Formats: sequence, structure tokens, C-alpha cells
Amino acid sequence: MSEVVFVGTSDAFGAGGRRQSAIFARGERGGMLLDCGATTNTGLSQLGLARDEVDVILVSHFHGDHFGGIPAFLYASMYTDHRKHAIEIVGPPEIEARVHALASAMGHHLADRQWTFPIHYREIHADETLEVGPAEVSAFATQHQPEAHPHGYRVRLGKEQIAYSGDTGWFDGLPAQVAESDLFICECTLHRKELDFHLSLEELREHRDDLDCGRLILTHLGEDMSKERGQIEIETADDGMAVKL
Ligand SMILES: [Zn+2]
Ligand SMILES: [Zn+2]
Repeated sequence: MSEVVFVGTSDAFGAGGRRQSAIFARGERGGMLLDCGATTNTGLSQLGLARDEVDVILVSHFHGDHFGGIPAFLYASMYTDHRKHAIEIVGPPEIEARVHALASAMGHHLADRQWTFPIHYREIHADETLEVGPAEVSAFATQHQPEAHPHGYRVRLGKEQIAYSGDTGWFDGLPAQVAESDLFICECTLHRKELDFHLSLEELREHRDDLDCGRLILTHLGEDMSKERGQIEIETADDGMAVKL
């Protein structure tokens, strides 16, 4: 059995008072974070989830609300947790350089430190499948700002498969990428279709029957979607929400 805990479910701007994107997934062989927004340490602490349980951080793309929390996660793992076991940071091409540049800009240089645990970086490309820590991960390209190297993922943890959209607008290949997943965690920033690079409830309603997934949960909720939460026919995530598969 796998378990998913939504650590952060807001859009990039903290809509609805929620935290930025981070989803903790736990399988029989370990745990991983799908994205690590800047508010991730706060969320893990509030929810009583130990950073030590995170064997892998899987990054969907290089926007701060999806990977801005990695430097603080690493520093807290060393100074607060005295972590000893390795962590893998997996993401689109340039993952290591982008994380280092981000950390340097924040004043938290990652190079030239005596880390108490190994940090391994691995790139994953669209249409590639990798064995990563406790999971098998397949990547697909999404419809989002190209300079952020946007990807979505299918993550197989034991018997269950979780699909995650990352950030994306609608594209015709999306249903095939998430088909037969037990859970599809899909971004839904907007209520009405306004942008090509984020999804809306309007489009997901239109395409709901095309999505062959056991359970569909919407996340990355913007202002309007935050107000709709719990009042629409499609399930919406909230910070701290836990789902067993
Ligand atoms: Zn985002
Ligand atoms: Zn984004």
C-alpha cells in the first residue's frame, strides 16, 4: 500500500493561505517528495513528517514554487536532523546546476560544504524511465514555460501508480500519459481557461471522460479554485490531506 500526503497545494503565490507545491509519497521501500516548494520545511514540520523519510526529491520543473525549498531542506537535514543516509535529487536536465544556482542566490551555497550525508543528482528526460530510490519514475514533457524545463511524472510505488502533472496547460497527449494510474494529481490553477500554460476547471470538466485514472485530485489551486474547494464535483487537495492507495 502506498500513501500520499499533500504538504502544499497552492499556486505559486500561496493562494488560500496554503503552502506551495510539495507532495510526500510513501511506499513499501521508502519515501519521496514530488516537488519541494519554498514552504516545504514548514509543511513537513507542521504535519509531523520527518525529512529523514524522504529518500528522493523529484522536481517537476524549475519554478521557485516547485524547487525553491531544496536548499533549506538540505541544510535542515544536516544541522537539525544530522542526516546520515543519502538523498537523490532527480529532475529535468540541468537539475544540479539549477539547484546550485538557486542556493547561491539565496546565500546558501551548496558546494564546498562537509555534508553529513551524500547528495546525488540525476537528470531525467521526457519519455525516459528510471529506477529511483523506492520507485520507478517515467517522465513526460508538459505544456508550460519551456525555460523551466517542465515535466510531469508517472511514479510506480509498489503496485500503485501515481501520475503527477507538474505545471501544465492542456495538451492532447495528456490523457495517454496518465492512463491507468491509480491516482492522478493534476494541477488546476484556474477556474476558467485564461492561460495556455496552466490548467483550469473548465478544461478539466470538458476532458474529464478522457482521463482514465482511478482517482483524480486537483492541486496547485489559485485564488478562485481555493474558494471552490469542496463545492465542486471533482476532488480538490488541501494542505495535510492524506490519501491511501
Ligand atoms: Zn507552480
Ligand atoms: Zn511553473
